[in-house]
Amino acid sequence: MFKTTSYIELNQQALIENVKFLKELIGRDIKFSSVVKGNAYGHGIEQFIPMAEAAGIDHFSVYSGDEAYRVFKASSDQPEIMIMGWMDPEAMEWAIKNGIGFWIFETERLDKALEIAKKLRCKAKIHIEVETGMNRTGLSNTSLNYVTKKIIENPDYFILDGLCTHYAGAESVANYVRVNRQISRFNKISKKFQTLGLKPTYRHTACSAAALNYPKTRMDLVRIGIAQYGLWPSAETFIQYIHGKVARFDPLNRIISWKSEIISIKKVKEGEFISYGTTYLAQEEKLIAVIPVGYSHGFSRMLSNQGRVLIHGQRVGVIGMVNMNMIIADITSIPDVNIGDEVVIVGKQGELEISISSFSEISNLVNYELLARLPERTNRIVIHQKY
Ligand SMILES: *Cc1c(COP(=O)(O)O)cnc(C)c1O
Repeated sequence: MFKTTSYIELNQQALIENVKFLKELIGRDIKFSSVVKGNAYGHGIEQFIPMAEAAGIDHFSVYSGDEAYRVFKASSDQPEIMIMGWMDPEAMEWAIKNGIGFWIFETERLDKALEIAKKLRCKAKIHIEVETGMNRTGLSNTSLNYVTKKIIENPDYFILDGLCTHYAGAESVANYVRVNRQISRFNKISKKFQTLGLKPTYRHTACSAAALNYPKTRMDLVRIGIAQYGLWPSAETFIQYIHGKVARFDPLNRIISWKSEIISIKKVKEGEFISYGTTYLAQEEKLIAVIPVGYSHGFSRMLSNQGRVLIHGQRVGVIGMVNMNMIIADITSIPDVNIGDEVVIVGKQGELEISISSFSEISNLVNYELLARLPERTNRIVIHQKY
């Protein structure tokens, strides 16, 4: 197909170093599951899976059946795959047939899994998600009694691959009491499983923030999303990490860069409005550059008159409204700009860098949301040089 109007660069070396750093910090004996839901946080499942395998990853977590299928197709080393959310019965059948694990958070799902496992004459790989205080998905105590009974009665049809839960905001110290309460509830349930003779392969509860800030949540497996992509779950998490360290540098490296190019340049007279409406008035003669990226490409409309891009190694402002397919940058202060010159939306150019977090602070989008909004169709290329 033809090139898209902007492209995403993914740095293989950065991922290798992030995984190495995280595995060493968390513990090499703990299974590292790479969370690749949301199209691998916008990085692109098809591109990211081979990169992750090259970095030594052999376990992936996704949200849904369709994502699991894409991971399955993109992988070459037969990794373990775990579905943390929803799938339709057809996908469940495929998952069971292919040894793909999935979370049970409703008794009906367990019944369905048993029905399919019996039909296929094979074992369903299940993870029991328990409610500990997040109050989202997760089995409450009464449902747990039903579920444990079913598992014990059907050893030929279930592999108890996991016992798990998720924390309600481990990235903020404001939730400290709540998270600790969740940890102790989980441990209580884990003990109960032991008493019943149920031995899950993995007890797992930690996302990036929990794995970093609450070591006792690491257990047998950690589910690492945002941190492997080189971003901290929150500024707080980073501050907590570097606190007391002598070398105060960020050990994580961003994998993603997002780039485009200038497609049109023109002068605008003093006193004219630029782009839709009257949000930007040229108070002097302006030289503007048009960049073919807009909110349909993931450049939020909230960055109207606020965003920044890099051109010729200089930071310049986005002026006027963000359009569906275009933004306008003020290049009045930069000499000799030409059509076709590179524009960096996220990433480095010369000495300067636009980070995802600087970007998301302006727009009030957290790192996660900004990444997840990058469209699947945008071209993605993998680069191997040092960043
Ligand atoms: C998204 C998700 C994770 C990973 O979270 P990060 O903060 O990106 O590390 C872990 N567990 C569950 C259940 C999730 O939905």
